[in-house]
Amino acid sequence: MNIGKYKLTVVNTGYFRLDGGAMFGIIPKALWKNSNPPDEQNRIKLATRNLLLENGKRKILVDTGMGIKWGDKSKYIYEIDQEKFSIEKSLGRINLKPDDITDVILTHLHFDHTGGSTKPENDKLIPTFTNATYYVQKENYDWGVNPSDRDRGSYIKDNFVPLMEEGVLNFINGEEMFDDEIQFLVVNGHTFGQQLLKISDSSNTILYCCDLLPTTSHIPVPYIMGYDLQPLKTVAEKKKILPRAVEENWKVFFEHDPETVLATVSQTEKGFKVNEKFSSLL
Ligand SMILES: [Zn+2]
Repeated sequence: MNIGKYKLTVVNTGYFRLDGGAMFGIIPKALWKNSNPPDEQNRIKLATRNLLLENGKRKILVDTGMGIKWGDKSKYIYEIDQEKFSIEKSLGRINLKPDDITDVILTHLHFDHTGGSTKPENDKLIPTFTNATYYVQKENYDWGVNPSDRDRGSYIKDNFVPLMEEGVLNFINGEEMFDDEIQFLVVNGHTFGQQLLKISDSSNTILYCCDLLPTTSHIPVPYIMGYDLQPLKTVAEKKKILPRAVEENWKVFFEHDPETVLATVSQTEKGFKVNEKFSSLL
């Protein structure tokens, strides 16, 4: 798929599992257990599906998945599965190496979005993408280095503080244009300063919606994760963004849906729902 000067490619960096109750907040299990079947520990399968944007000069990676710095206990808790898909394996399939990436845009610094940003080497942590400039909202970095006791577990400093120490992390402030095709949309319900990417040209728009809509099941407005710091803000943000997705026929890109890569959204008298689903970029 091409948008403007960019060629878009999915980079699947693996799978993991999170508690289904936490993923659906106040929604009863009876309503999500068929679409997202839980395992014996009530966990549902999630992807870490990242996006590569190439334009001849730049190779931009959006988010970096869980990464490889996990101990046995965490691997067990989250059932981290990178047997078939990881950053290196998925880039390798398209004949790229981490060194080829020129830019890494981080939607936010939760461990499943920036885990792959750093790697151990000679007893220290260094950027995985040695030639890349990394980008994140300043507001999210400021929160990530000093989170609340409630969300401390989601921000693992080894995944982003070494980027700052190496001088490769650039701050974005608000809803800037990255270039002609890429615009950041900032939302604050899930955490502070999460940036969605709206990638568009005159005929197509893709919304890399990260944790505003983690899976297709989260399109209806009340389907909001228990992790969100300000759920009523997420309600307002969904009610602002989803009508635009319907009216302008955006294709929504799902970072965590285990099957669906892209979907369009429709609106009925019962609310917003998935219209057409796609299991690959078109
Ligand atoms: Zn998150």
